[in-house]
Amino acid sequence: MSAAPLDEKLEPIFQEVLRRNPGELEFHQAVREVLECLGPVMVKHPEFVEHKVIERICEPERQIIFRVPWQDDKGEVQINRGFRVEFNSALGPYKGGLRFHPSVYLGIIKFLGFEQIFKNSLTGLPIGGGKGGSDFDPKGKSDGEIMRFCQSFMTELYRHLGEYTDVPAGDIGVGGRELGFMFGQYKRITNRYESGVLTGKGLTWGGSLVRTEATGYGASFFVAEMLRARGDSFDGKTCVVSGSGNVAIYTIEKIHEMGGKVVACSDSNGVIYAEHGIDLALVQRIKEVERGRIGSYAERDRKARYIPGGNIWDIPCHVAMPSATQNEINGRDARTLVKNGCIAVGEGANMPTTPDGIRVFLDAKIAYGPGKAANAGGVATSALEMQQNASRDSWSFEYTEKRLHEIMRNIHDLCYQTAEEYGTPGNYVNGANIAGFIKVASAMVALGLI
Ligand code: NDP
Repeated sequence: MSAAPLDEKLEPIFQEVLRRNPGELEFHQAVREVLECLGPVMVKHPEFVEHKVIERICEPERQIIFRVPWQDDKGEVQINRGFRVEFNSALGPYKGGLRFHPSVYLGIIKFLGFEQIFKNSLTGLPIGGGKGGSDFDPKGKSDGEIMRFCQSFMTELYRHLGEYTDVPAGDIGVGGRELGFMFGQYKRITNRYESGVLTGKGLTWGGSLVRTEATGYGASFFVAEMLRARGDSFDGKTCVVSGSGNVAIYTIEKIHEMGGKVVACSDSNGVIYAEHGIDLALVQRIKEVERGRIGSYAERDRKARYIPGGNIWDIPCHVAMPSATQNEINGRDARTLVKNGCIAVGEGANMPTTPDGIRVFLDAKIAYGPGKAANAGGVATSALEMQQNASRDSWSFEYTEKRLHEIMRNIHDLCYQTAEEYGTPGNYVNGANIAGFIKVASAMVALGLI
């Protein structure tokens, strides 16, 4: 399936992005998806053309690449590469997570940072876009190795951070343990207890209640809103959630709370199918306590089946929530989902659907919530954590969750209304990209040529 044509003003801009960023396929994909939506915006807002806002927004404000040397448990020296891409600070300090995964290279960090600009804009909170990480693989490493790596990583990164400058958080491979080691090293080097410099912190050292749950809860709230807009709800729906990490776990929890039944989850080795419903406490024990593999779930829940190397999208469901990684749903998977009766897709992961897959969902007119809208609850709650840190306060779980819920409802409504305003009702891809872009673009024009 060929990509949608770009507006004639936007095609040369995209060609220039390809020329300047060779080999960064995920970044190209993320830029193209946004540009495909912006043709009508250029007509309505000629000032964005005049001020070259799109050309500027596609070029990160700053890109930092650094060596991360560390010693493993055998005393051998290991070298990894660290990244921080500070993409856009028109709306606030750079904000976006750190990813530790062997697949990480500049193109992945740039796609994530680019997406983050629009996602953060949609939250309505004062945060710019950035992303970082390393090709370090935390799997199978001891706590000591993780600590030494995190300390070395922060020994370079700290000089680029600050509560008014750049505020990282977690992402794949970076959770409470890693953020703790990084915050400890930041504090040691700077001699400052600067809580607002990282989010996703532990509850005893400046973290916010609900931050751990926020991305999964938020994505589930977003899907509930999409269903509500169609006079429907999660009640009685069969759901499939890929992954079994932070986002997947709290998506499963919230779906169960809202009356749906999650029958499958996964990791990069295989799929668990539990027709009677996934036992969340068991998943949490395996992933959060034992740091094990999801395959061991079937050894303890005898009614469940483990499918090594299986494709989770072959399992029939009403609602699909991809919550693992980029490009995990291709055109074929999307067609299978639609054929099997899927009526809603909510992306907990970033860019989990390929352009072909997105086209299938849009053509089928199912409720499709793209990641930059559906998974914005994580970063939104990070911004709430920053608010609590700034006022030296901590809010209750109920209050923080209520704020998250309101934010997700607002994002949904903004995307929904923007899609209607631009003549594509029900198209949340257009809604999210256009609404997210306009706010950042307007700020960039107001701030002058910087
Ligand atoms: P975790 O590291 O907690 O979990 C990731 C899960 O996805 C694991 O089950 C992992 O399996 C699986 N996975 C990762 N990479 C691959 C791969 N290449 N192929 C197959 N499975 C894979 O990460 P999170 O839950 O935090 O993040 C999941 C997604 O959500 C990412 O796309 C992230 O960018 C996005 N996201 C996260 C937010 C957050 O607040 N944490 C906020 C917004 C978006 P395995 O263990 O086998 O690798």
